[in-house]
Amino acid sequence: MSDFTEYKDVIQEGDLALIWVSRTMIKPVTIDAKAVFSTRYGSFPHKDMIGKPYGSQIGIYTRGSGKFAFIHVLQPTPELWTLSLPHRTQIVYTPDSSYIMQRLNCNPQSRVIEAGTGSGSFSHAFARSVKQLYTFEFHEVRYQQAKDEFKQHGLLDENVIITHRDVCKEGFHITSEDTTSHDFSSQNKKEITLDADAIFLDLPAPWEAIPHLEKVIATDKKVGLCCFSPCIEQVDKTIEAMSNNGWTNIQMVEIQGKRYESRRQMVRSLDDALGRLRDIKKRKLEGVKRRYQVMNEMTPAEREDVERNHKPLTDKAKFNPFGKGGRVKEGDENFTWKEVTKVETEIKSHTSYLTFASKIVNKVKDEKLVEETMQKVYV
Ligand code: SAM
Repeated sequence: MSDFTEYKDVIQEGDLALIWVSRTMIKPVTIDAKAVFSTRYGSFPHKDMIGKPYGSQIGIYTRGSGKFAFIHVLQPTPELWTLSLPHRTQIVYTPDSSYIMQRLNCNPQSRVIEAGTGSGSFSHAFARSVKQLYTFEFHEVRYQQAKDEFKQHGLLDENVIITHRDVCKEGFHITSEDTTSHDFSSQNKKEITLDADAIFLDLPAPWEAIPHLEKVIATDKKVGLCCFSPCIEQVDKTIEAMSNNGWTNIQMVEIQGKRYESRRQMVRSLDDALGRLRDIKKRKLEGVKRRYQVMNEMTPAEREDVERNHKPLTDKAKFNPFGKGGRVKEGDENFTWKEVTKVETEIKSHTSYLTFASKIVNKVKDEKLVEETMQKVYV
């Protein structure tokens, strides 16, 4: 079983766990009773995690700062892996991968082709949801790193076959002559029938790979294709290759992932604005002259105190509803508030163009299969 598909309750020695330090820092670690997970907030011995339920908060009291620091230990999922994996390339993020899998109708019976593998972000999401994933990578070091990672995560023993291949030149067919792919040693067969019904191409030139798909796609069902390209010129060439090779229902989509946050915003009146303008004008007029005057009126000791401790010469500006000044807590009952929605800008999404198409090779209706399927549906 893989770390990504086997659900466990309790953290154990040897597990791959994802340690959530903050929303932007999630670290993969292999649990080892002798190891310590160090952060700038403090050190967390793995032995304190072993035996605790996944999702637990592990806290420490840091003697130096006298503060409480904590982390959460989480079980790996493809979504968390995407946020924590070592980047070797640009990757596909969850807002895109989830949409693509839904559009390609991925399900536990799907047989998927992916090229290139890159950092394996999308491969993990496919591996969890589909029957079989054939993934191809032509960069030798990246191929080896992805293969080692898939092995470590148990994906190679389950449903993933990775091949070192330039798919634009050599296509997708896998035979026993391929030494970098499926291990045929324990089988009689000499090739794999890929019969893919979903294809995802994240390549600089997908139009060069599209003509090779004909030989490896399923012929008895609708096959979905998605190409992921950052430039509109690439989309143009991809669409041309799709239609020249018999792909139909071509559609281009761009995902603009956004997270919306509900907040309260202070209601400001015209009087507030006028008051603020008057205040600015008054302060300008007083300006530097006033500063000298105040300093001159002070005793040497008071002056030294002001300079050494950077003390303000005048009272702090009263609350300024337009920014600087005294701070008011959101929702303070002394002010009027309205409910607003704010967009969070940091959400990670690659925002490439997604070009979808589909193909049905054998358009003859198999009456017997239809009848059998209908019977199964209505039983
Ligand atoms: N989708 C991947 C992920 O989510 O981690 C990232 C893919 S990365 C952007 C593109 C990868 O395609 C690179 O690793 C590159 O080496 C590989 N590649 C480019 N051209 C290729 C080709 N003709 N055959 C196989 N792999 C190729």
